[in-house]
Amino acid sequence: MTLSTSIGRVLIVGATGFIGRFVAEASLDAGRPTYVLLRPSSENHSKNKVDKALQDRGAILLNGLANDKELMVKLLKEHNIEIVISAVGGGRILDQLSLVEAISSAGTVKRFLPSEFGHDVDRAEPVEPGNQMYKEKRQVRRLVEKLDIPFTYICCNSIASWPYYDNTHPSEVIPPLDQFQIYGDGSVKAYFVAGTDIGKFTMKTVDDGRTVNKSVHFRPDCNFYNMNELAALWEKKIRRTLPRTIVTEDDLLSIAAENRIPQSIVASFTHDIFIKGCQVNFPIDGPNEIEVSSLYPNEPFRSLDDCFNDFLMKMEGENPKQSNENPASKPVVEAIAITATCA
Ligand code: NDP
Repeated sequence: MTLSTSIGRVLIVGATGFIGRFVAEASLDAGRPTYVLLRPSSENHSKNKVDKALQDRGAILLNGLANDKELMVKLLKEHNIEIVISAVGGGRILDQLSLVEAISSAGTVKRFLPSEFGHDVDRAEPVEPGNQMYKEKRQVRRLVEKLDIPFTYICCNSIASWPYYDNTHPSEVIPPLDQFQIYGDGSVKAYFVAGTDIGKFTMKTVDDGRTVNKSVHFRPDCNFYNMNELAALWEKKIRRTLPRTIVTEDDLLSIAAENRIPQSIVASFTHDIFIKGCQVNFPIDGPNEIEVSSLYPNEPFRSLDDCFNDFLMKMEGENPKQSNENPASKPVVEAIAITATCA
């Protein structure tokens, strides 16, 4: 049972970003008064299109920077914002320190969700350079707790997709069509969550009394796969087997040690997930943590199987003739621009 039924005004920071857009759309889907903070003067046309699409759906656009404390206090008070969700990217985590101070000063906010959307940063300890981002996320957590701001930390694990070790937004990239790169022996499991479900379940928590001052972990049973199982699932979709190469623990550590940002960050997270088992090597049993399915047992997750069907359709849409002839003969899709860091 959800303890609170009030429908507070939500401000989303980073709604034009990869994760933030899922959250903003889910907020609008839930019929919440949704404000989005936009960084001014973006020349990025695809982001401008996102702003427009959100506005057309009823979002109220506000201009400003999360790290402009004075402005944020003014906006929060002026619009009587009760819930703030931040999805700033991995390179801008510390921008939230001013936002947290603004939330504390404004006094309107009943819940803050900082930009987490990955692993439990108080537990996981990836090698550098990934750990630097976790240190910054921990710094934000500690300020939130010190200022006594009610919070929820969303630990949603991996986004549903093929987990390329060198791509920060892999859910936009079709799984391999030439060969699989398997991390270690491919037996370490992880949880995969569709972006739409990250948005949907995040929005369920925001004024649920059971999630106040808690870390909410996403561990959907239906989406618990290791690399070998992921490869088998994709082979079933493309009706063909692909060769496997092994990416060893040392390979991942070497890429991480190159300290190329953001590729080395992604390699360090890949090592943490698929070699060290950071998503599964602890029970969720502390007083301040809870698994999301236990909160909303009747709310289904999209299955990874379905998400892989989407990739298949995307592949066929991009090149119907070739995919009909032989789905695996198409070269690996062009990698998207890497703009931020995952987990
Ligand atoms: P993106 O880089 O895609 O988007 C960041 C957003 O934040 C953009 O909208 C950007 O605006 C906005 N922004 C950045 N700084 C400011 C600021 N100072 N004031 C206002 N807006 C700002 O981020 P991601 O979606 O990749 O990352 C969000 C979170 O999700 C991170 O914590 C990341 O670690 C996590 N993540 C988790 C993944 C997973 O698989 N579990 C995958 C990817 C991310 P603008 O449009 O102007 O650039």
